[in-house]
Amino acid sequence: MRLTSSQATALLRRHGLSSTRLARQTVASLASMGGPATAKMIHASLRRVPCDLATIHRILSKGERKGLLRALHLKGKSRWYELAAAGPHHHHLYCVRCRRVKRFLFCAIGRFEQAALREHGFEVESHSVELFGVCRACRNLRRNDK
Ligand SMILES: [Zn+2]
Ligand SMILES: [Zn+2]
Repeated sequence: MRLTSSQATALLRRHGLSSTRLARQTVASLASMGGPATAKMIHASLRRVPCDLATIHRILSKGERKGLLRALHLKGKSRWYELAAAGPHHHHLYCVRCRRVKRFLFCAIGRFEQAALREHGFEVESHSVELFGVCRACRNLRRNDK
């Protein structure tokens, strides 16, 4: 997804965030990646813009607090973010070898939610599921090693 500078501004303002140049570029970079990214990945994509990693971390965590971004619940040191409004309902596949994250447009949690309501009277409002494993490329590499 490509975001123009004015679209990025609108998105930031709608969430009560100030539209600094770096904030716009951070949001646009995240959108263009088409999936979750870490501060480091965004920093690397903005190579031509002088900025430090700490500022990008700050923009991302503020964006999460204001509901513009969602942080994924992945293991490891780096936090992964995506735009909260990013497309249809989905989950993530996290490769524990190459640490790449893929969006997974499949959800079978409905029965889970129905059971929670039936057995506990608990009404589910949202859920987040991340799957951990080994991606196809890494599995192929492993096979070729033998
Ligand atoms: Zn992998
Ligand atoms: Zn789901």
